[in-house]
Amino acid sequence: MGTRGRSIIGMDVDKLIGLLNKAFADEWLAYYQYWIGAKVVMGPMKDALIAELLQHAADELRHADMVANRILQLGGTPLLEPNEWYTHSNCGYHAPSDFHVRKILEQNILGEQCAIDVYSQLLKLTREADPVTYNMVLQILQDEVEHEEDLQALEEDLEAMLKK
Ligand code: FE
Ligand code: FE
Ligand code: MG
Repeated sequence: MGTRGRSIIGMDVDKLIGLLNKAFADEWLAYYQYWIGAKVVMGPMKDALIAELLQHAADELRHADMVANRILQLGGTPLLEPNEWYTHSNCGYHAPSDFHVRKILEQNILGEQCAIDVYSQLLKLTREADPVTYNMVLQILQDEVEHEEDLQALEEDLEAMLKK
């Protein structure tokens, strides 16, 4: 990366790259979890859920792109092997175990809650140390907060409809 750009970072850059690679792994797994969830989901309100899942999948892939670009800027290398996504991920991957809308929603809400925790920690860590990463993490965190709310709103609609 640019030498001055690196010199303004007030923390261990290799440690930061390590944490960003963990987030990078999370984003790919989140992307796939949404994408495959949209393929297999069944049950009431499935079309509304598919539209939301595909939107979120696209956001997670965009996040992976943002994080990879920052890792490269910092002089690191994004994880090159998909099997490393499993070993580095904070939030893991939860294969759809039950294709019902309610269960798919539940699994993805847990994923978003984990992502919110991970990015709010990264935000605290970079607040003073690295404003460029901080700004990126803030943008991603805003999306994850929106994702959680979108899914919980769908869950409420679904429960209200099923009660009728
Ligand atoms: Fe994301
Ligand atoms: Fe998300
Ligand atoms: Mg959405």
